[in-house]
Amino acid sequence: MDIKQRPKTFQLIQNSFSTLLLDAIQYFPANKRRFQGETHGLLFGVGKDDGMLECDYVFPVGNVKSRTPDTIENDPKIDLAITSARSLLATSKYVGTYHSHPNKEYFFEWAYPSNMDISFAKYVKDPTMIIIALTRSGKLKQELQLEVRKDRAYQFSFNSKLDGHDLPDQVELGYDISYLFGSFLEYTFEMRAYSYNSKSLLNMNLLSSEAELLNQLGQYKIKVDTLSASDVFRLRKIEYNLRENNERRGKNTEYHLERLKPMDK
Ligand SMILES: [Zn+2]
Repeated sequence: MDIKQRPKTFQLIQNSFSTLLLDAIQYFPANKRRFQGETHGLLFGVGKDDGMLECDYVFPVGNVKSRTPDTIENDPKIDLAITSARSLLATSKYVGTYHSHPNKEYFFEWAYPSNMDISFAKYVKDPTMIIIALTRSGKLKQELQLEVRKDRAYQFSFNSKLDGHDLPDQVELGYDISYLFGSFLEYTFEMRAYSYNSKSLLNMNLLSSEAELLNQLGQYKIKVDTLSASDVFRLRKIEYNLRENNERRGKNTEYHLERLKPMDK
């Protein structure tokens, strides 16, 4: 596929951001000495002509056959999930895979692809890939804190001389991309998106209307678990309006949020 035709921005809509985060947390290793709690799953959505890929559905596959500290090997379970989903899901298309990088502590390149991740992308013919790096940093269970951060874009290419766990060869592409960084409960996490061009993984912009909605709810001190069914319908409208490239983007967000605000006693 021509590089210009590939989507440049990956947007997590509906409940896709929260599903990715919850799945990565669920598989985070309970035993600190055994860092093998990676999770793996499939991403579904639809790419648009304007370079935007909207992901609206996430299918967790869970454990994979062989897990080592930071690799995922090919697994018939994933193959079967991809094949079955491709023939059954009609309103969303298979757009790629995700997996987590659970770590003992934060380091800057923790959500970069490993050498092995590039061979995996080649194996499943992944158009896109999301990597969620996370660590259990705090003791206190905290509410979601989230920010969109910027980094230089790179092209990551397989280096046969290096180990599967090593960072692959990197070439800077000369522009910036966005990624998501935040904390939730006692975890700190980072999500980055990549596209695959049949040779290398390249950074994409990663955005999320759902994450932005959750951020806004936090600012308005609105607790998700106290909302009624009619409130949820209001939130759906807000999330829809927060999608990037939506002509109504951000419209009426404040109006709707004011109506959800907890009453002053
Ligand atoms: Zn990886």
